[in-house]
Amino acid sequence: MRGILIRNAHVYTPTGDWLPGWLLTEGTKIKALGPGQPPEYPEEAGLRVIDAGGSALLPGLIDLHVHGALGHEAMDASRESLQVMARLFAQNGVTGFLPTTWTASREVTLAVLHLVRDLEEPFDGGASILGVHMEGPYFNPAKAGAQDPTQIRRAEKDEALEFLDSGVVRLIAVAPEFPENLWLVDECVRSGIRVAAGHTAATYEEMKTAVEHGVRQTTHTFNAMTGLGHREPGTVGAALTMPELQCELIADNVHVHPAAQKILVSVKGPQNVILITDAIRGAGLPEGSQFQVDTRTAVVHNGAAYLADGTLAGSIQTLNNCLRNVIANTGLSLAEAWPMASLNPARAIGLAASKGSLEAGKDADLVLLNEKY
Ligand SMILES: [Zn+2]
Repeated sequence: MRGILIRNAHVYTPTGDWLPGWLLTEGTKIKALGPGQPPEYPEEAGLRVIDAGGSALLPGLIDLHVHGALGHEAMDASRESLQVMARLFAQNGVTGFLPTTWTASREVTLAVLHLVRDLEEPFDGGASILGVHMEGPYFNPAKAGAQDPTQIRRAEKDEALEFLDSGVVRLIAVAPEFPENLWLVDECVRSGIRVAAGHTAATYEEMKTAVEHGVRQTTHTFNAMTGLGHREPGTVGAALTMPELQCELIADNVHVHPAAQKILVSVKGPQNVILITDAIRGAGLPEGSQFQVDTRTAVVHNGAAYLADGTLAGSIQTLNNCLRNVIANTGLSLAEAWPMASLNPARAIGLAASKGSLEAGKDADLVLLNEKY
């Protein structure tokens, strides 16, 4: 037997948490786990034994919405950029992620998709790439946020089908209020690709239609969408009330006020919230660092990144910190909150049979977190 035995951990599973608990891996899979002390394994079993000292043992975190880190981003269409990102994320507890595109030309977008398609194996010491999240380009320019408004367009068949033909798109965000974009929602549903509503001015009624077509997620909920009005509940009202929708949340305490985070998690329940970082090139860079967002310059300031006109350009946070923040903001326990950072994102992209929770037979994607996460 070749594997790792982790003992004296606080083990979190879908059916309960155990302190102490143990977990045994075999090859790349979880072989067994349980409360208390592990069975005695003979020395010839060749196990590497880790005493976790009471640290939290969780399924590796999964970030579905992350553009970059340490001066690199997915839109560089460079292998090195993906490697730098994968390693920083792994150092912060993430074992799987979707490099996320944003609104750009057909050529640049295709270059990213083909790069990911042609990657042969995971980066040594890095989180696994689970596919690509296409954030755009079929958005509403009225809700562009930091997306380049000159490149935002409607879903045209020749182009969009070429994107999907790459075979690596797992999640796509669109503005569903444009009838020209709805064929793409239908096409993605047929192909098993998750569709989110994002950078959208959709009304509540338009979101009803979107959900009928198969939209199941809202992109960075509250950000770049129609807010909640009491006569027009908007995209936020739809996100909060429609049970079909799971909600991405940037829990960096800059993009969404802690009280709004608490409202979302209270109304939807933690099973319907997906923590994301939406991190960009500035993640991991010190205060005052400048970097490029397409052709524009952004600066790292007070825990986020801003364009020159003050527009929030994305976060610089890592997912372990988002998990810690949302726990502090909602009062949930780690036992209640961990699925928001692993099981829910795994489910959203159809990978929950192998990832997202500590269960025998699943992939041994593991993270040990101390009290500072
Ligand atoms: Zn966005």
